[in-house]
Amino acid sequence: MKKLFSIFGDPVSHSRSPLMHNSVFKNLNYDACYTRTHLLDGDKLRDTFFSLNLSGANVTVPHKEAAFKACDEVRGFAKTVGVVNTLVNENGKLIGYNTDADGFMYAIKEFGDIKTILVLGAGGTSRALVSRFLQDNIEVTVLNRSDSRREDFKNVACKYTTWNEFKVSNYDLVVNTTSAGLSDDNLPAPLELIESILDHSSYVADAIYGKLTPFLQLAKEKNKNYKDGADMLLGQGVLANELFVNKELKKDAIEHHMKSSFNL
Ligand code: NDP
Repeated sequence: MKKLFSIFGDPVSHSRSPLMHNSVFKNLNYDACYTRTHLLDGDKLRDTFFSLNLSGANVTVPHKEAAFKACDEVRGFAKTVGVVNTLVNENGKLIGYNTDADGFMYAIKEFGDIKTILVLGAGGTSRALVSRFLQDNIEVTVLNRSDSRREDFKNVACKYTTWNEFKVSNYDLVVNTTSAGLSDDNLPAPLELIESILDHSSYVADAIYGKLTPFLQLAKEKNKNYKDGADMLLGQGVLANELFVNKELKKDAIEHHMKSSFNL
């Protein structure tokens, strides 16, 4: 029987997930289809999932915490962060995973051995990535515009600093997790600070995809090796698809066809 998958979110019309997963299913002759579901109320996630008879799903903003609560069982890194972005129907039980942070690790694999990371921003994406970096014993510093999110990192083994108190040192990688540059031309911190950070960093990454942010533009001008959020998006998608097909398809082939959907 044809399997059905979906992405849940609000909004959801912009999501590239249907294109990415359908490209894999179609090209690898896997009998499945991936659609999108605009879900307003996160509390309805579980019922909606089962009433649509889904085999699996992805979850995006703002329902990732609700997805965590909706699960019968949560596995792996999702347990650490309390946030689920991938759901699998395992014999009528809802199993939750988080492939966002592992997707990022997958994306930066080619940067080699990373020991120190500066994370710009302190929101949800930052928290998930920081927890994942710490699992690999990476030394992490968080640099945020304001003090307002310091509490969120109270029990996290990283340094939290703001623009005013920040003193630059050397980093293997700097990653922008702020939304600066998403729908404006802002840098994630004042120009002078960003220039100094880039001069002290070997590699650069941005969680934002679909455009060259002013931050990455500056990294490019400085001849830095950089990646935008498309690789993170691809990474989480590849890992989610592997869970959906229960390893029936080869990871290389999943990656190849998912990547090709980015040019559609
Ligand atoms: P949050 O709203 O949780 O956090 C936003 C953070 O950005 C805060 O730390 C905030 O600082 C900071 N910020 C916002 N505007 C500015 C600015 N103009 N200058 C400096 N700092 C600013 O967002 P999320 O963590 O959910 O998402 C962050 C970004 O990551 C988004 O652009 C999103 O699109 C992207 N993303 C990409 C993914 C991918 O697969 N590629 C996956 C998930 C997210 P303050 O505390 O001072 O308000």
